[in-house]
Formats: sequence, C-alpha cells, structure tokens
Amino acid sequence: MRGLMMQTPLLISDLIQHAARFHGDTEIVSRRVEGDIHRTNYRDLHTRIRKLANALTALGVKPGDRVGTLAWNGYRHMELYYAVSGMGAILHTINPRLLPDQIAWIINHAEDSFLFYDANLQPIVEQIAGKTPGLQGYVLMADADRLPAESAAAPLLAYESLVDAASDEFTWPSFDENTASSLCYTSGTTGNPKGVLYSHRSTVLHAYAAALPDVMNLSATDVILPVVPMFHVNAWGLPYAAPLVGCKIVFPGPALDGKSLHDLFEAEGVTMSAGVPTVWQGLLAYVDANGLAFSTMRRTVIGGSACPPAMMRAFEEKYRVTVVHAWGMSETSPLGTSGALKSKHSSLSAEARYAVKFKQGLALPSVDLKIVDDEGNELPWDGKTFGNLMTRGPWIVNEYYGEDKSALQDGWFQTGDVAVIDPDGYMQITDRSKDVIKSGGEWISSIELENIAVSHPGVQIAACFGVAHPRWDERPLLVVVRKPDSTLDREEMLAFFDGKIAKWQKPDDVVFVDSIPLGATGKMLKAELRRQFAGYRLP
Ligand code: ADP
Repeated sequence: MRGLMMQTPLLISDLIQHAARFHGDTEIVSRRVEGDIHRTNYRDLHTRIRKLANALTALGVKPGDRVGTLAWNGYRHMELYYAVSGMGAILHTINPRLLPDQIAWIINHAEDSFLFYDANLQPIVEQIAGKTPGLQGYVLMADADRLPAESAAAPLLAYESLVDAASDEFTWPSFDENTASSLCYTSGTTGNPKGVLYSHRSTVLHAYAAALPDVMNLSATDVILPVVPMFHVNAWGLPYAAPLVGCKIVFPGPALDGKSLHDLFEAEGVTMSAGVPTVWQGLLAYVDANGLAFSTMRRTVIGGSACPPAMMRAFEEKYRVTVVHAWGMSETSPLGTSGALKSKHSSLSAEARYAVKFKQGLALPSVDLKIVDDEGNELPWDGKTFGNLMTRGPWIVNEYYGEDKSALQDGWFQTGDVAVIDPDGYMQITDRSKDVIKSGGEWISSIELENIAVSHPGVQIAACFGVAHPRWDERPLLVVVRKPDSTLDREEMLAFFDGKIAKWQKPDDVVFVDSIPLGATGKMLKAELRRQFAGYRLP
C-alpha cells in the first residue's frame, strides 16, 4: 500500500525561501575581496538571488547548463549557489588554487557556459581565456568600475551591473528532485580529476543530516564561519545547512591566515566553524603565539584529512572548543561519518573519551559502511581488522560526470581508504590505500606515525610515507617541519616513538625540511613527497 502523503520534490530553492521567510533579518557577513566587510541578510540575499536568476536567464543560461565559479567564500558566491541551481542549471565550483591548465581542462570537460570569478583572480582568468573556447562569457563578481581596461576574457561583464538591471520577480520552478544541481571535481590527489554531479535531492538530504546534533549541531542561535572553501565539495554543505536552520553566516573571503580568521571569529561572535587541519594549525599557532583565546567559539568540525590528536587536545583543553572529527570525500557530498560521543561514554575517563573522538566516527544516518578484503569479503567490526572502506547512500556518487558507467562495485562505492570499524560502529581511517606503507607483508599506517610526530612540541607538521627497501619492500620515512624555535634532532624524534608504537612500525629515518608541499585543498601531497624522495637511501 502506498503512503498517502504529498509528493513535493526536495529542491535547493526551498532552503533559501525558508531562510528568507523565517529568518529574513539574520545576517550574512562577508570579508570581501574588495577588502571591506559587507553585511546583508537572508531576505535581501534572496531578493538579489531572484535578480541574478533573471540575469542568468537573460544571458541565455538554460536548465541543465553548467555555470562555472572561480570564487572564495562570500555572499556573491552564495547568490550563485542558489540562483544557478534554483533555476535548474548546474553550479560548477572550481578550485582557484589549481594550475591554470588544470582549471581550463576542468572547464572544458564540464562544458561550462559562463565563468563567474572573484576580482583578485583576474590573472588566472587571463591565463585560461585562450584555452576555454566553449565559454560564452565571463562575469567579474564586482562593480563595473573594477573591470580591467583590457582583458583576454571576452565578452566580460560586471556582476553588479547584471544584478542591478534585473527584475526581482522570479518564481522558482518546480522539477524532479533528482535533477542535477552542482558539480565538483575531485582534487585529483590520486589521479585525474573526476566530476561528481550532485542532485537537488542528494544536496537537501545531506543538508538535513549535516545539521543534526551529532554531526554539525547547527541551530538558528549559531554563528557559523565556513573556513572550508565553497569550491571544495560545497563547503561541506554549510551553504545549504545554514539557511535550513537559519543561522548567521560569516564568510572569510580569501584570507585564511590565523590573524584574519581570529579577528573575524571575535568581531562577529562566531560559535561554530569547519575546516581542514592545516588551516587550524595556522590559526592555533597564531592564537598561541599571541596569548589569545576564543571568546564565543564553541565547536569546530575537522576533517578532509586526519585531525591530529594533539590538535584536538589543544582545542578542547586549552581553548574549550569542542572538536568533532568528520570523514568524507567529494564522492560522499562530503559528510560520511562524524565522531560524536554516545551517552555511555560520559562515564569514561578523559583519555578513553579521546580515544573514541580521535576516530572518524559513526556513519551519518542513511549512509552505510563496510570494510572488505581485496576479494570483496566483508571483514569484522572488531576495531583491529582493517580493510577497504565501502559506502552507499542517497548522497554517495553513483557514476562520475561524463563517464557513462557505474562507479560502484556490487552497489557500493569503494572509497580508496583503508579503515577499521569497532564494535560500536566507530570507523577509523588507517590510511589512503595508496599511502599505506607496506613493510614485509605488514601494513603500517602513515596517519598513525604522523599523529605521533605532531604531538611532539617541537614539530609543526610532519608527513610519513614508504620508500623502497631491499628487504622489506617499503619502510617509513618521516619528513618533519620543525617549529621556528625548536632544536629537535633525528635521534630525539625517533626516540619519541618508543613505547607509542610497535618497534617495527617506527620510521627508519627522519628528514627535516623547510616546508611540506600542500595540494589545492590544503592536504599534504604525499605523491609529490614520494617523487622528491624516490631513491632515498635509508640507513
Ligand atoms: P581527493 O580525493 O581528490 O583528494 P577529497 O577532498 O574528496 O579529494 O578527499 C577525500 C579523502 O580525504 C578521503 O578519501 C580520505 O582519504 C581523506 N579524508 C577525509 N577526511 C578525513 C579524515 N577525517 N581523516 C583521514 N582522512 C580523511
């Protein structure tokens, strides 16, 4: 028997309509590329979104067309999120930190119709303009007086002129909730970028799950600052989850250094934020060095790569900021797990609670996980046996954009991560399958070694990876960036592992470097390190 309830589609436009109606005067604050602080609210933003939808229609953008953005976190980017998807077109967010040739490749692969970009990214646009023949035009996300006198990008229009000239009368169309809404390419740390094409349904369901208490715990009383970029898996869904709950949003623009972020946290009363460990590392270093605190910040979600235990302890013990460790990837929208505690954990010691929180956590509702061996046999959830992590659910990729074939194995998506799952269901990433160090038939977790290394007070950042070894196939090499005043040496670093890990898992050698290469999303580029240290002779 069928249920007798209404069948209204889950559409992204409903999120912003809800926020405009019920939280109309709630603020949206942006540090702009122009350098100033801009303030608007959900009601006024929705008016500009409707104008933008009319402007896009006038440009000839039709449902199904891809519209590219090359932009930081700000209110204009948010307007594009809603105008493009709301009218049935597809918002294609592009990472400006990629190389110009990679950006051009992605624009061409997606067959974008227009490119919207922030003013400080003009130099990139000049470099790609000759390589993207399919683009019908470029829109500078600023006032007309900031248009460059000359540009290789043509035709080149000004965003504010388009919005100003358009009517605010626009009725959001209703359509199938499985219609594509946005497109994001994986950062390609392990191969060619691949497009993940989200739908209205997957995006709205993901937003509901993201807002849950044991995930991001969002409410209308929050002030959120998404540090995670809007070009990286839709800022982990925050631009959708925030209007869903009606919370104030603070957009940081391009300045993600410790001082800029801390100033904004304090000035705007930010209560919640989310980002990758490398950005938090810069923030904590600044706050530490200047003897500052967080007066309003209550919690942060850390993911994208493993949150080092030392970072979680610093946030929680020194700054009273609760950390939730989350795992996901472009292919999972991205939230797949989050590491909140259960009621039974409250009676545990602080150390035992940390042991749970260091893990990447429980699957979000509607997301299913399993670990399998190389033959696909399911492995036990005993907290010890590790295997290939597989997932499925309504916001998990089914097929990559333009590939025309399933990305699944027996209905599951293979994440490329290696993990253990404990009897309570808490998943812990041991490694990316490509980063696992294979020593004499045994596997060593590079993440575990890095976490130990960065808990040494003299270590700023550390990467561990396997280098070829004549007897053991591979052995771990640790590459370390010391803190500015540290005198840490090789012997002391190696001795620091004693008693924390089995002897055979200890790194064979330590190399001190000035910096570790980071990718476009702030993750350590292990492939690049492996190239740099290819042929390195271990002692
Ligand atoms: P790409 O796969 O192109 O690098 P993503 O940003 O989608 O781009 O990266 C997803 C990967 O990041 C995951 O497969 C996993 O290896 C890693 N990752 C994400 N969150 C965590 C986490 N909390 N702990 C460890 N690794 C993580």
